[in-house]
Amino acid sequence: MKKLINDPSRVVDEMIEGIVLSHEGLAVLSGHRVILRSDVEALRRSGKVAIVSGGGSGHEPAHAGYVGEGMLTAAVCGDVFTSPSTDAVLAAIRAVTGTGGTLLIVKNYTGDRLNFGLAAELARSEGLSVAMVVVADDVSLSAGGDNAGRRGIAGTVLVHKVAGAAAAAGRTLEEVEAEAERAAHAVGTMGVALTPCIVPAAGKPSFTLGEDEIELGLGIHGEAGVERVALRPVDDLVGLLVDRVLDSLGLREGETVALLANNLGGTPAMEMDLVARAALKAASARGTSVERMWTGTFLTAIEMAGCSISAMRLDPGLLSALDAPASAPAWPGTGTKPSAALPTIECPREEAVEQRMAAPNPRIVSAIRAAAERLVAEETRLTDLDRKVGDGDLGANLARGAQAILAEIDTYRDLTAAAVLRALSASLRRTVGGTSGALYAAGLLRAANTLEGRTAVRAQDWSEALRAGAQAIAQIGDAKVGDRTMLDALLPAADRFSGSDEASFFEAVEAARTGAEATAAILPRRGRSSYLGERALGIPDPGAEAAAAWLDAVAGSLGDPADPA
Ligand code: ADP
Ligand code: MG
Repeated sequence: MKKLINDPSRVVDEMIEGIVLSHEGLAVLSGHRVILRSDVEALRRSGKVAIVSGGGSGHEPAHAGYVGEGMLTAAVCGDVFTSPSTDAVLAAIRAVTGTGGTLLIVKNYTGDRLNFGLAAELARSEGLSVAMVVVADDVSLSAGGDNAGRRGIAGTVLVHKVAGAAAAAGRTLEEVEAEAERAAHAVGTMGVALTPCIVPAAGKPSFTLGEDEIELGLGIHGEAGVERVALRPVDDLVGLLVDRVLDSLGLREGETVALLANNLGGTPAMEMDLVARAALKAASARGTSVERMWTGTFLTAIEMAGCSISAMRLDPGLLSALDAPASAPAWPGTGTKPSAALPTIECPREEAVEQRMAAPNPRIVSAIRAAAERLVAEETRLTDLDRKVGDGDLGANLARGAQAILAEIDTYRDLTAAAVLRALSASLRRTVGGTSGALYAAGLLRAANTLEGRTAVRAQDWSEALRAGAQAIAQIGDAKVGDRTMLDALLPAADRFSGSDEASFFEAVEAARTGAEATAAILPRRGRSSYLGERALGIPDPGAEAAAAWLDAVAGSLGDPADPA
C-alpha cells in the first residue's frame, strides 16, 4: 500500500482538520467528527432549515465538501466506509437545529439508516424537529430484490443541492423534505470500476480484477459490482451506463435531464473528459436533452479508477434548485448547458506569401531534397538517440517534417530563395512540433528575412542566412555552443562557412560533424536532456546529430566544390 498518510487510524481525523483548516467558513464540532458551517449559530436563529448528511469516509469530497451556503449545514464523518455513530449524528443535529428544524439526507445503507434514524428519534424526543430522506439511486440493483435495496451513491450530491437550495430559500421543513424526496426519486446512478480501492486500515484491495476486467454496477465501498465484464471502449461502456440509468428513470424521448459524470477517485481528468463526451453522445442518441452537466470528482471510493453516471429527470423546480448559488468548497457551481454540436471557430487563412522569380534555381531544390531525404533516412538513428537522452520523438518529428517538405518541393521550384525558406519554415512549424519544430521554424524565418529582396543569391548570401538562422535559434532557445544542443553543430558551421568561397561550405559541414560528436562529452544544460545530467554523457545530442546530417546532405547535393554548376 502506497498512500500519503501518517497513521491509518488517524486518517479521518487528520482529513477533517485538513478540510477545515484550508476552507474558510467551515468549523469542526468539538469532540466529534462533524464538519459544519462556522456561522451555524446565526443560522439556527434564522428559522431556516438545516441540512445534515454524512456517512462513512473515503468518499471525499462527499460529504464534507458540500458543507456551505446553499447546500449542507453539517456533514458527519464515520470511519472509512463505516457509518458514523448515532452519537456523532445526534451531536450534529443538536448543533445545527434551530426553529426551522433539520433534514437528514442519508444514503441507503443499513448502518447509515440505523444511526441517522436513531439519532433523529432521540433528537425528536428532545423536542427538535427532524425529518429524514433516504437516497437510493444505484440503478444497478433492482429496487425490490433480495438485497437491502438500492444503494445511495453519487446522485446523492444532486439531492444535497436541491434540498440546500430549498432550505436557503426559506422553505419549511415539510417543503424541504418534499423537495429532497422529489429529487431522490428523480435521480439514478450507475458506475463502473476499473480497479479496486484500498481501505488504509486494511492495507489490501477489497477485490481483484484481471488486466482487462471491469466491474459494472460496483458499490462505492469497494464492494464488487453486479457483473464482471471485459474492458471495452469508453463510448460503449458509458453508453451502457447512460442507457441503464435513463431506462430505469423511465425517461421518454424529449424529456430533459441533468447529468453528473463522476470520477470514482482514480480516473485521470483526461479520461473523465472522454466519459463526458461519451455520456452526451449516448444521451443525444436517445433523444434525451441534457440541460445541465457536471464532470468531476464528486463522490469517490478512495482511489478506485472508474466513473459513475447520474441523471436527474428535470422539471423547472429541480432545475432552478440545481442552478441556485452555493458556496460549498466541492460544488463546482452551475452546471453547463452542453452544446449539441462541437463549437468550432474556423482558422483565419494564412496569407500565402509567394514570390515568383525570373530564373528558377534547381540547386536550391536539389539541396533541400537531399536534406529532407537524409532526415527521413536517419529517422531510426535519431529516434534511438532521443530515446536515450530525450523523449524519443525527434526522429519521427523531423522525418514527418521532411516528408511534408518533399510533398510540396515542386512548388519551390520558381520561388525566390527567401520565399523558399519561408515555405520551409511554415511547413516545419506545422508538422514537426516539439522543441526542434519551433527552433527550426524560427531559424528559417530569420534566414528568409536576411535574403528578402535579394534576387541573385550567392554563397555570401547563404553564409549570412545560415549565421542569422543559427543566431535566431540561439536567441529563442537561450542556448550557446557548449550547451549540448543543435547549436553545437549549427554555430560552428555558420562560423566556418565564409561566404567568399563556396568550398568553405564543405569545411563548415566538417565543423558541424566535429561539433555534434563532441556533444557526447558535454553535460546537458538545455532541453529535456538537462534533466538527465551525467546520465546523458557518452551519447551525442540528437538535435546536433540531425543538424550535422542534413548539412552533410546539402553539401553532397552541391557536387564537386570546384564545379559551380
Ligand atoms: P522535445 O522532444 O524536447 O520537444 P525535440 O525532440 O524536438 O525536443 O528536440 C530535441 C533537440 O532539441 C535536442 O537534442 C537539442 O539539440 C535541441 N534543443 C533542446 N533545447 C534547445 C534549446 N534551448 N536551444 C537549442 N536547441 C535545443
Ligand atoms: Mg524529443
